[in-house]
Amino acid sequence: MKKVVIIGAGIAGIAAAIRLARNYRVIVLEKNSFLGGKLSEICLQDFRFDAGPSLFTLPELVEELFEICGESAKDFFTYQKLPIICKYFYPDGTILFAYANIENFVDEIAQKLGESPEDVKRFLQKAERIYKITKPVFLEKSLHQFSTYLSLTTLRSLLLGYEIDAFRTMHQANKSMFRNPKTVQFFDRYATYNGSNPYQAPATLNVISHLEHCYGAFFPHQGMYSLAIALTKLAKKRGVEFLTQTEAQKIIVRNSRAIAVQTNSQTIECDYVISNADIMFTYRKLLSEHKAPEHILKQPRSSSALIFYWGINRQFSELELHNIFFSQDYQKEFEAIFQQKTIADDVTVYVFISSKIVFSDAPKDCENWFVMINVPPNSGQNWDELIVRARQSIVRKINAILNTDIEKLIVVESVLDPRKIEERTSSYGGALYGNSSNTMFSAFLRHPNFSKKISNLYFCGGSVHPGGGIPLCMLSAKIATSILMSKDGFKYL
Ligand SMILES: Cc1cc2nc3c(=O)[nH]c(=O)nc-3n(C[C@H](O)[C@H](O)[C@H](O)COP(=O)(O)OP(=O)(O)OC[C@H]3O[C@@H](n4cnc5c(N)ncnc54)[C@H](O)[C@@H]3O)c2cc1C
Repeated sequence: MKKVVIIGAGIAGIAAAIRLARNYRVIVLEKNSFLGGKLSEICLQDFRFDAGPSLFTLPELVEELFEICGESAKDFFTYQKLPIICKYFYPDGTILFAYANIENFVDEIAQKLGESPEDVKRFLQKAERIYKITKPVFLEKSLHQFSTYLSLTTLRSLLLGYEIDAFRTMHQANKSMFRNPKTVQFFDRYATYNGSNPYQAPATLNVISHLEHCYGAFFPHQGMYSLAIALTKLAKKRGVEFLTQTEAQKIIVRNSRAIAVQTNSQTIECDYVISNADIMFTYRKLLSEHKAPEHILKQPRSSSALIFYWGINRQFSELELHNIFFSQDYQKEFEAIFQQKTIADDVTVYVFISSKIVFSDAPKDCENWFVMINVPPNSGQNWDELIVRARQSIVRKINAILNTDIEKLIVVESVLDPRKIEERTSSYGGALYGNSSNTMFSAFLRHPNFSKKISNLYFCGGSVHPGGGIPLCMLSAKIATSILMSKDGFKYL
């Protein structure tokens, strides 16, 4: 069997390993002592927290990995569809439930925000149309292979390009559709699902709301980290070797061909290399002697996050698994993140409480709060000062909306900021989703899933095509491995 070395055991690295294991000997190098990258967990006293992703969408992309291995996903992990996707709290006291049931959701928007049900349905139909046009080209194929443009599906999608609403921003599109600024804020928020700014990103990103409202949101019964555990177990069962605490230091290239990976302890010769490490890090550190595609590396990064993990000594029946406390001035919040590279005084706060479903994640009568705000990626800001200020404004907002004194209920705390995200996962600037999607050209300015200069070198993960977030990382692994396998004439499953 030919040998493939994968650098990084993020969710895409593990998915790529599973896809290749039938035909190749696969070794995954991971610098950390744990597998999963951003998809990780932390335990504080008797509280367990999913440390990274909290929203699970398009589970079929994960299930597919089990199917191609002839396994049933249910034997490895189980999940449920959420009847309430998220509960929204507006500063004026309005409360909105994003129900999974589409009729209930449309009714809720009509009743609470005064929109006409027809407008909401028309909006969702338009988002669905954009998804149908973009999915086969922008999500499921390499944008950088000539063959992509020869297929009928691609040609059809490109001919319908004018329908994908790429020439105005998401905010402009949403404002033209709805009368209530609160509805606009609600739908603008989907830009943050891939770390973008609704006031800059093309309205094409409205596909994200379609995915959530048409397909639903899900949650694993044992928490998000159980996904990483399940996929690792599957990979090991398929014979994948994981070397933890093993840092790749260099991709060795001879005659323009990747032939080995040098780690902190050995040099591993191989036939192919896949880097699941951030693309910036891959070029700057692992390929430092080679010319980098600067135009791609210089693209602005997605937002990062500041997260407080709080063990809370009480239960709040008024909160759901996912909760949003909106800011008063959304535009100001995004200007602070993307233009001023700081944090606004009034921010939108996301509170995720996995113990609502995974009871063992918190002691009896307690809850585990994951309290997150969007922040700029790290570019040397004074984070210690920003964290203190942000924490005060978060506490103020939560107290006002829940009529409580949250400080008194916090029994244990840990903080994750962009510096730490960068340090732990080598994500440039601690960006959560690689490059932002703030322009209509962003999709074309993500790095391809293969190297154009070095043969036998491939890339997967949130910093390359088609982008960040668990579903897109799954697709990046699929695209990268399908190109690799086609080289050896293997039929792709
Ligand atoms: C706080 C937070 C919240 C998020 N929320 C969501 C959400 O709700 N839903 C969603 O879908 N997505 C969410 N995301 C994004 C999602 O987590 C990522 O897009 C995805 O997990 C990235 O996976 P990846 O495969 O690109 O690898 P990463 O997770 O970035 O992992 C890369 C791995 O490579 C390793 N590595 C790097 N360099 C080397 C080296 N030289 N040698 C060996 N190993 C190396 C790193 O240690 C790491 O383990 C969130 C992310 C964060 C941080």
